[in-house]
Parts: sequence; structure tokens; C-alpha cells
Amino acid sequence: MKMKRIFKTVLLASMILIFANTNISAYVLYPHGYHSPSMTFKNVNLNSLYSTALINAAASWMVGTPASVFLQQDSSSTNTIVAGNYGQSWYGYYQPYTLNSSGEATRFEIRINGDRIAEDLLNGVTIVNTPQSAFAHEFGHALHLDDLSSGSAIMNNNRNREYYFKPTKDDIDGVKAYW
Ligand SMILES: [Zn+2]
Repeated sequence: MKMKRIFKTVLLASMILIFANTNISAYVLYPHGYHSPSMTFKNVNLNSLYSTALINAAASWMVGTPASVFLQQDSSSTNTIVAGNYGQSWYGYYQPYTLNSSGEATRFEIRINGDRIAEDLLNGVTIVNTPQSAFAHEFGHALHLDDLSSGSAIMNNNRNREYYFKPTKDDIDGVKAYW
């Protein structure tokens, strides 16, 4: 009876540990993010919908992350945010430039693809939060997070962009792990 109870306790403890492990970080760190958690960015040619989405996306990364994480629009910044019609495969793109000796970018450009967003709209998909979701994801790369193929994260490439348009606990844990 006592042995059984010990066995049950050990089994339960093991199950809790396994369960806890499955909840640990799905995030993957990315080497070519920006060289600092504090960054400015220049809005080059965004329309008003994208401009608002950009500001909201930047602000969303300053909730729950370390105080050193700071993203602010600045017309004199060398980090650029550009809208274009690039084809239909991706919503947003993070391009690092001039890597330092640690492989971190000293400048970056984020592109948003109007073609891809228009394609969703043509297919009857709601796009209210999609631009913000795209910018928040690309800022995630600037903050050293890599793409994921699943999970409750802004870094999941297969996320529902209407639902996931702000960083989640997993994303924030990843930023805390790097910075
Ligand atoms: Zn990505």
C-alpha cells in the first residue's frame, strides 16, 4: 500500500514535470537581430493604415519585456520601414544589414507586402489586424527571435494574423532570454 502510494506520487510528479517541460519556451533565438534592444525606425512610405499598425506593433513589444527594449519612430533613423508590392508569398520581411562581429545587424529594413495583404482581402479574409501582426512579427526578428511553424506566438508563420497581432508569453520569454 505504501509502495503503491510512493509509486503514484512519483508517477504524478513525473507527469507534472513532463507537462511543465512541454510548456517551456517554443521560441528560437535568431542571430541577426539588431545589435541593441533599443532601436529607432523610419517610416518611409506607409499609408495611414500601415502607419498606425507600425506604431501599435512597436508599442506592443514594450509591454512585459525588459525595460531596455525600446522601439521608437524617428525620421532620422537609418532603420527603414517600407511598403511595397512584392508578390504574394510573404506578409512582411526583415532584412539585416552590416553585421557586427557577433552577427548582429547594425541596421535593418522591414518590408510589408501590400500584394499579400490585398490577396487576403480578395479572398474575403479580414485584414484589420494583419498589418500590425506582420510588423510585430518582423520586429520580433529585430529583437532576435526566429520563425516558428506552430504555437501561440507572434513568431509562428502559420498564425491566424487576425488573432495573433501582439507578442505572446512565448515571444516575450524569448526576448528576455536574449536581452
Ligand atoms: Zn519571419
